[in-house]
Amino acid sequence: MALANYLRNVANLDMRVISRFLAAATDVSHFPAPSVPEIAFLGRSNVGKSSVINSLVGTKLARTSSTPGRTRAINFFEIRWPGKPRPDLIFADLPGYGYAKISREISREWPKFIEPYLNERSSLALCIALIDVNVPPQQSDRQLLDFLSASGRDFILVGTKSDRLSNNQLNNALRALGEQYPAARLLPYSAKSGAGRDELWKQIRQVTPAEANAPAITPQS
Ligand code: GDP
Repeated sequence: MALANYLRNVANLDMRVISRFLAAATDVSHFPAPSVPEIAFLGRSNVGKSSVINSLVGTKLARTSSTPGRTRAINFFEIRWPGKPRPDLIFADLPGYGYAKISREISREWPKFIEPYLNERSSLALCIALIDVNVPPQQSDRQLLDFLSASGRDFILVGTKSDRLSNNQLNNALRALGEQYPAARLLPYSAKSGAGRDELWKQIRQVTPAEANAPAITPQS
């Protein structure tokens, strides 16, 4: 029994993803040199963006709203599979938007470094647009999705905090989103229960051809 547990732990260790803060950018000149495929996470403040990132990597990599920090920067994180000398992916955590208090600031900052990032970043492989399934889509969500559609970027629409709804309510919310954004790939997600996590990793890993056959990912802790 002890041996079985030990072996299971060793197997899990092998499959952990290793993550590391790389840089915070508030200007195009701060962006790290483009290298491995990048995954951008976008959404309104409080949508659960930090929780999604943290649940994907299994550690408190991104800060949550209760601990304000590098919230107005694009934060870059390296993601690496164990045994690999170099990172396989970069996660880019974009500033949350849509709260009245900071929206003026954000609208000044978007043209300065966020739009250039989304429009011009050569290594940006996939955008993950987060929408809280408990709240009807807001004007700012629509602006983001229109922007992404127009940019031609590949994106997935992830409906956060799905655990707060019954199956029925969730299906209705997803249907409504699907009707509004017929072209979007939709994925319900709960950082709390882990629902959607494996599927989101699967979608993310499709941008790293070398990792397509890598073992399933297990949280760090
Ligand atoms: P951010 O501002 O977009 O980074 O959002 P946070 O990740 O900080 O989350 C905002 C709030 O939503 C926090 O109070 C979280 O505990 C809560 N939250 C985030 N994800 C989930 C989830 O999957 N389920 C539930 N029930 N609450 C969540």
